Amino acid sequence: MAASMFPELRRVSLQGLVLSNIGRRKHDLEFRGSSKQSVSKGVRTVHTTRKSSTTASNDVAFKSAPDVTPKTNSSRVSTQPPLSVMPMGMLLRSLMISTISSHRSLLSPSLRLLSFFVHSSSKYIFNVQRNPIVHGLLKTTIYNQFCTGESVQETKACVQRLKDLGFKGVILTYAKEIHYDHKSKKSHGMGTHADCDVKAAAVVTDADIEAWRLGNLKTLECIAEGDILAVKTTGAGQSVAEAFTTGSLPPKQMLDALFELGTICKQRGIQIIVDAESQHFQEGIDRTAIELMRKFNHDGKAIVYNTYQAYLKKTPSVIAEHLAEAARDGFTLGLKLVRGAYILSEDRSLIHDTIENTHNAYNSIVAGVLTRSFGGFGGEEHQKNPFPSVQLFVASHNRESALRARRLHIQRTKSGLPTVPIAFGQLQGMSDEVSFSLLQQKDEFGEAPEVYKCSTWGIMNECIAYLLRRAVENRDAVLRTSDELKALKLETKRRLRSLFSR
Ligand SMILES: Cc1cc2nc3c(=O)[nH]c(=O)nc-3n(C[C@H](O)[C@H](O)[C@H](O)COP(=O)(O)OP(=O)(O)OC[C@H]3O[C@@H](n4cnc5c(N)ncnc54)[C@H](O)[C@@H]3O)c2cc1C
Repeated sequence: MAASMFPELRRVSLQGLVLSNIGRRKHDLEFRGSSKQSVSKGVRTVHTTRKSSTTASNDVAFKSAPDVTPKTNSSRVSTQPPLSVMPMGMLLRSLMISTISSHRSLLSPSLRLLSFFVHSSSKYIFNVQRNPIVHGLLKTTIYNQFCTGESVQETKACVQRLKDLGFKGVILTYAKEIHYDHKSKKSHGMGTHADCDVKAAAVVTDADIEAWRLGNLKTLECIAEGDILAVKTTGAGQSVAEAFTTGSLPPKQMLDALFELGTICKQRGIQIIVDAESQHFQEGIDRTAIELMRKFNHDGKAIVYNTYQAYLKKTPSVIAEHLAEAARDGFTLGLKLVRGAYILSEDRSLIHDTIENTHNAYNSIVAGVLTRSFGGFGGEEHQKNPFPSVQLFVASHNRESALRARRLHIQRTKSGLPTVPIAFGQLQGMSDEVSFSLLQQKDEFGEAPEVYKCSTWGIMNECIAYLLRRAVENRDAVLRTSDELKALKLETKRRLRSLFSR
């Protein structure tokens, strides 16, 4: 019905798909062929435009991130409203969820209800998996908004629908989580295997690590070449979390599991993102991610990305250290940049004092990496330290950060200046306006950027805690959700107007 009411939808999404596929191949070839030769020229040019924003000190004061993006937009931006490619059903569902998220009087009871389902031990009536009415209601609304599917087939179909809209692919995580209870010193898996005494199990084989490995192997069944597997490593249970707490590598069983996943991903053209978590575990996670990069990230290609949280004061120096490791050992640093999701539970003194400082930190890191001048590498001052091979992943719902990064990348490639490959990601069901706006920012060859939707799959029982977190995140991002709501309302009105003007 949507397609017949809005014939332009199908046309635009197919065009987008074809163009982005052609362009992507061209981009990969161009980058491989030209990046090395043009480094020195680019570094000189860049250095005159930004001087001191790439300091690798522990507490860089980001008074204001220099905007090195061109003031005139050199990209080809479509004149179609960004949300015009959204299928009608998706638009109406987003409008409903966004309306609820933007009104406290609607959101508070919805959150209470979701929270009740998350914590309910009911066997039938309030069991989201077994009660068909509750299951159906949640499935057609919040589940379909934020998750891909309850089975491999459903997930594959949803991934294909996202690709048909022009997205390069998905970043997929398996929803089943293993929580470590600090009081009982036990891990609790949701759904499948029974709680177990991990210490005893670790002697023979750690059941949580095995469950984690199987979950990720199953997730790999849902995705294909060009997609990304996201791994939350502390989900593998107590022995892994304990190792990370001391800044160590995880047990051999976990490293073997990660190397197995890496080998499969490399063979299948899938990338892996290691998610950033609480600082309590992060040193060990970083070490693990670097080991994986050392093994898999060769020939200028990042199979593995580590995640860096720009809200932490120390992040520039951590990135500088990892750049040094990449330069020394000759691997590509896969650098996924987020602002950070643990502000409520993290030691506050580790985080920038204001949100503006976090924004400036985020934008400075992106600009430094895209201009290949950061952390004592690249730039005129550091000619002895050429910038190592890096691939950047801008994971953010912040419109300004995302579009700034895209514009700077276009400007540099257009001027023949060196840069690094870049990709973008937003969570499924969130900031679609940002995602579709990015897809419209085509370069001079008509090539759209690589934009991914990050999602989760699993049965309702397994996803319900994830859904609650998304709802809470939407509640806390008041400004962003009201902007999203405005964009969704405008698009709905535009379609209604065009329907009645016929
Ligand atoms: C694809 C994808 C993958 C992600 N993976 C991870 C991950 O692995 N690990 C992780 O931690 N997060 C991850 N995130 C979550 C991400 O960190 C949050 O979505 C993000 O922090 C929201 O910021 P934003 O960039 O969208 O911009 P905005 O919404 O503009 O910024 C909000 C952010 O600013 C920061 N902030 C807010 N108030 C303050 C303050 N007073 N002082 C200092 N800083 C403040 C917080 O980080 C807050 O989340 C991911 C997000 C995406 C889209």
